Amino acid sequence: GLLVWFFFFFFSETGFDSENGPSPGRSPMDSQASPGLVLHPSFPQSQRRESFLYRSDSDYDTSPKTMSRNSSINSEGLRTVRSNFTILANVTTPTNKSVSCCQTPLPPTYTQETYQQMARETLEELDWCLDQLETIQTHRSVSEMASNKFKRMLNRELSHLSEMSRSGNQVSEYISTTFLDKQNEVEIPSPTLREREKPMCHISGVKKLTHSSSLSNSTMPRFGVKTEHEDALARELNDLNKWGLNIFRVAEFSNNRPLSCIMFAIFQERDLLKTFRIPVDTFVTYVMTLEDHYHANVAYHNSLHAADVTQSTHVLLSTPALDAVFTDLEILAALFAAAIHDVDHPGVSNQFLINTNSELALMYNDESVLENHHLAVGFKLLHEDNCDIFQNLSKRQRQSLRKLVIDMVLATDMSKHMSLLADLKTMVETKKVTSSGVLLLDHYTDRIQVLRNMVHCADLSNPTKPLAVYRQWTERIMEEFFRQGDKERERGMEISPMCDKHTASVEKSQVGFIDYIVHPLWETWGDLVHPDAQDILDTLEDNRDWYQSTIPQSPSPPPVGQDKDLKACMDKFQFELTLEDTISLFSQEEKLTQCSSSPTALLTLYARGIVMLL
Ligand SMILES: [Zn+2]
Repeated sequence: GLLVWFFFFFFSETGFDSENGPSPGRSPMDSQASPGLVLHPSFPQSQRRESFLYRSDSDYDTSPKTMSRNSSINSEGLRTVRSNFTILANVTTPTNKSVSCCQTPLPPTYTQETYQQMARETLEELDWCLDQLETIQTHRSVSEMASNKFKRMLNRELSHLSEMSRSGNQVSEYISTTFLDKQNEVEIPSPTLREREKPMCHISGVKKLTHSSSLSNSTMPRFGVKTEHEDALARELNDLNKWGLNIFRVAEFSNNRPLSCIMFAIFQERDLLKTFRIPVDTFVTYVMTLEDHYHANVAYHNSLHAADVTQSTHVLLSTPALDAVFTDLEILAALFAAAIHDVDHPGVSNQFLINTNSELALMYNDESVLENHHLAVGFKLLHEDNCDIFQNLSKRQRQSLRKLVIDMVLATDMSKHMSLLADLKTMVETKKVTSSGVLLLDHYTDRIQVLRNMVHCADLSNPTKPLAVYRQWTERIMEEFFRQGDKERERGMEISPMCDKHTASVEKSQVGFIDYIVHPLWETWGDLVHPDAQDILDTLEDNRDWYQSTIPQSPSPPPVGQDKDLKACMDKFQFELTLEDTISLFSQEEKLTQCSSSPTALLTLYARGIVMLL
């Protein structure tokens, strides 16, 4: 499998078959390996749309530049070697449709000299090709090549998107700064006055809080949290094992302790307290302390999000294709990782922390600043009074758990998205399944890879949830973004993409986010656990279509009635048309009037849009 992938990337990286789609001279090996970028879905898919990952390379390359880009190495070398070989060895190529078209007829009049010459040249060519292969092999891992490939594809998608409109450009900026490893142009940071200087060894954000005294084994509430609405809470928690659980209502009925409550319920459900001999009061003390270290005044990255990711991870862990794949310790690690993965999140991005010379960026040398911090805080809190939920684990178990958790939480850094996705894709292409349809993951590296992608999927699962739930998440994340934008504006910094409340297009950003990030990821996850994720993928597609359909009405809620429709339409113009857009609209005017049945109406509309702009 790996070899196939290696060839796949070698050839597609070097333009082996990307010029004109199916090329002549393809050997049987090539047709088995995924040619170029045409990734064949491993399963017969329904009518569902495929993400850009399935687009063929040739769909992109229409510019004349592409034709000459393979001057250094291309398929010709290997193809020549191949056809020369058939002549020199005087072998008939096995009957194969894709090969027969280019089979060189054997000229009967080759002299000895011609043969010698051809053999020499062929050998030279072959040596050179081998040389190239070795260079690639030693300098770049398959995973790196896959990741680079996908990054390049996404970049191309995004450049199309950003050319379309100004809001498209903003969405594209947001995606590339968040999910590709790309750094913003570094802003000259203005030195900020810090309230207090603390030594580097201190993990900021750990507060002294006490919960233990109030709860003992005998007075433990049914769901670990004190609430007046225990029955209502019990009803919501009936959905504990379902993708559609409404975590917002769990928060409502649990005295706003969604994380403590969901952790308690999940650990009970999975019997983890018994398995790992975690004293129940210690457990509750830890999860409450953890929950208190999430910022309630941060709009999105608060304990509700942590609870959501934990419960989503819990459901994904139970997916039939992964039945009995993971050890109890790995399950414990995954749930713990999900619970702590955003703790003490300040509501601003890594880039913001870096650009403002924050203490945290300094501490972690600008690398996965927040994710490192979440881990440090999550583990540090175990040292608080009666908080060490891992006290009865063996030293070995503690070590393995820590390693697993660190891996998973660091993988929630969105700038690592593409390498994660590339590895997952590679795994899907080479996956082994037992006779009962369960994935075969023998090695630690395979299992941790699935786990880190699982938590990443759970972290990017909002658009796969029931629409009403998804929309609430969207409101929250946009509020958090806008607050960051306000801070940037106050400081005279450049406002991050999607963070400017005056220009951001919420609906478009969700559609872009789904098309370029969420859908490719979930589609790949869906292939891995096929057919377990079919409902999730269906919901995702419906939600995408819903956001797409609301774009014309944005930013106001869908109006009713004809007059309001017209008003909404004009609002849209006012909202979306910028001067730039207008200019480009006018430059296209001629084209548009030609194909429009009512050119005057169109022109009037433009004119009115511009009037409203001014
Ligand atoms: Zn998160």
